[in-house]
Amino acid sequence: MTRLHFAFALLPSGWANDVRVEFTDGIIASVTAGVASTDADERHQLAVPGLASLHSHAFQRGMAGLAELRGDTTDTFWTWRETMYRFALTMTPDDVTAVATLLYVEMLERGFTRVGEFHYLHHDRDGSPYANPAEMAVRIAEASDASGIGLTLLPSFYAHGTFGGAAPHAGQRRFICSVDQFTTLMAASRDAIRKLPGANIGIAPHSLRAVAPDELAAIIPLAGADPIHIHAAEQVREVGDCLAWSGQRPVEWLLEHAPVDQRWCLIHATHMTEQEVTALAGSGAVAGLCPITEASLGDGIFSAREFLAAGGRFGVGTDSNVLVGVADELRQLEYGQRLKHRERVIEQRTAGGRAGTPREHVALAGGAQALAQAKSGLVPGARADIVSLDTTHPSLAGRSGDAVLDGWLFAAGSDAIDCVWAGGDKLVAGGRHRLRDSARERFNASVRRLVA
Ligand code: ZN
Repeated sequence: MTRLHFAFALLPSGWANDVRVEFTDGIIASVTAGVASTDADERHQLAVPGLASLHSHAFQRGMAGLAELRGDTTDTFWTWRETMYRFALTMTPDDVTAVATLLYVEMLERGFTRVGEFHYLHHDRDGSPYANPAEMAVRIAEASDASGIGLTLLPSFYAHGTFGGAAPHAGQRRFICSVDQFTTLMAASRDAIRKLPGANIGIAPHSLRAVAPDELAAIIPLAGADPIHIHAAEQVREVGDCLAWSGQRPVEWLLEHAPVDQRWCLIHATHMTEQEVTALAGSGAVAGLCPITEASLGDGIFSAREFLAAGGRFGVGTDSNVLVGVADELRQLEYGQRLKHRERVIEQRTAGGRAGTPREHVALAGGAQALAQAKSGLVPGARADIVSLDTTHPSLAGRSGDAVLDGWLFAAGSDAIDCVWAGGDKLVAGGRHRLRDSARERFNASVRRLVA
């Protein structure tokens, strides 16, 4: 039994003083507020729950900052994607281990304690399957194991170049599966995570561009009660192409033709009509928002105010991993809404309400649902995923309660993170993951070769 004591902690009911958290085998056994610390407690100042990054493509961490070149005419998502394909085509399994390990170390240092890995880099460089079809999933599992981050593996089904069952192009060859190959891949992927503590699995039909309707129907049963993630309505051009193909918009099509429910997470859902916003919120699915990537790629701004007003649920993901951090994603989400509506503190309608706390609560619950975590936060039965903040940071000094969270999210950022526990394991202390130096060395060796 591990016993931590915090002077302040953010519980589901709000801030509490003098909180003892006890856990065993990675699971919280008890949370008690209003108790003095004893010599048996490890003492810390302030605790918030660890969040999930519900959407990540780990290999893309290797190309962070490399796609900031202007394309030929109007530089959009589609020119970024060409850079991504070139990078994806060169990586070996060892490169994937190196890149994913550093990424997960960084996620932990910056407040994420679980990752939903939307995994589509499956095959060898010539497009043929590895001897173990889940070789790359094994590498993701290795990175999770080494770093200690919780893993929800979401093997992606990817079959076509665009809507209407178009043939994939050569740059996509490492992603492509038939339904039969994907069924085999799923079985091998289950094996890849079987021994990993706290890991689980779902499926990820890549998008309506990459998956034909009959294929979507064929793979959904592979999920059972597990999560189903899909990219939808990220780009204006994607919406136009979907309309040309089906007469419907991507979210509209999914809500009518697929059994969208609480298992589902629609990644981005940036471009929705009012009717789509209301219907998606009512479906119980989670919107998987990736505010930094959406800004980086020029995707657009999610209808957060309308979606939340309709009772919608969202979580956040780091997607392209161009910049990683809980504070960074939640800040970008809020700032995007401020730029859109030309107002401040968007979700608080009452004077004096603060920006940070509702974001944190909603993202915690949405991330947990999307990655099939029955409990989340500092409650008995949840995984012991805890982040402590350094209250001597200048942007936190002298503050209490919600003002601390605002100081973290809007001013201090990841600098204010002190210790991080994932599944009860204390992985980060003094803001540094125990593997930081070796993970950077290995990552740098891989990336120096890849960009040469
Ligand atoms: Zn994505």
